[in-house]
Amino acid sequence: PVSDQAFVTLATNDVYCQGALVLGQSLREHRATRRLVVLVTPQVSNPLRVILSRVFDEVIEVNLIDSADYVHLAFLKRPDLGITLTKLHCWTLTRYSKCVFLDADTLVLSNIDELFDRREFSAAPDPGWPDCFNSGVFVFQPSLETHSLLLQHATDHGSFDGADQGLLNSFFSNWSTADIQKHLPFIYNLSSNTTYTYSPAFKQFGSSAKVVHFLGSSKPWNCKYNPQTGSVLEEGSGRADQHQTSFLNQWWGIYHRSILPLCE
Ligand code: UDP
Ligand code: MN
Repeated sequence: PVSDQAFVTLATNDVYCQGALVLGQSLREHRATRRLVVLVTPQVSNPLRVILSRVFDEVIEVNLIDSADYVHLAFLKRPDLGITLTKLHCWTLTRYSKCVFLDADTLVLSNIDELFDRREFSAAPDPGWPDCFNSGVFVFQPSLETHSLLLQHATDHGSFDGADQGLLNSFFSNWSTADIQKHLPFIYNLSSNTTYTYSPAFKQFGSSAKVVHFLGSSKPWNCKYNPQTGSVLEEGSGRADQHQTSFLNQWWGIYHRSILPLCE
């Protein structure tokens, strides 16, 4: 195991902790050889911190308001960027030389240790605008200098989408043209609930996904699951793609089998 590298995620409340737990467990099941770190904010309850500590090697509290003055300043000037600035705290993990950040609404489907061969800043294209990267999965190098430059950028320019993705895309603005090595293949951040307009490609490549991202407003933890059949209950349209349903079933399989028992 490489102890100076880590997979990192973030949960600012108990609901997102459910996602972080399934993500952490999925990394373990696929024998991740790096440390597993979850950043939490003060809103996360004590019982959930205890459960997180059974899956993650480190549970680190980040507190926007109490941290360094420049964070405080950036926050006061841009209160709209609260969660965004929290995500940027991952750059302060300077005990690690390199990290892979994964949103709490991602699920790992196979070993992804090879991502540590990539350098900052590597990410996969966003399905909605492929010249932008999606900030749900990225390779970065912790650095207090980069952290303060990012905060300065947030204070000066805000974020064009009001969130971390807009900010990071304008900060790492040459991502789409400078170095193809920094383009992660789409299978490292496959959004499960996007309706792909290139469906033959999804049919061809969707099943090779290594990281699924449940981006958007409907998260796996909002679904209903039938443990007897091992499948989520289809709602509304009922014509979800079979890959999408299978990804949801995998998320719930882990939640039911490995996370709920920790909560008892
Ligand atoms: N997040 C969080 N609490 C929130 C919202 C977001 O902890 O209330 C974290 C969590 O890690 C999440 C990430 O920020 O995965 C990005 O938010 P989200 O995944 O909801 O955005 P999307 O990927 O749907 O654009
Ligand atoms: Mn996400």
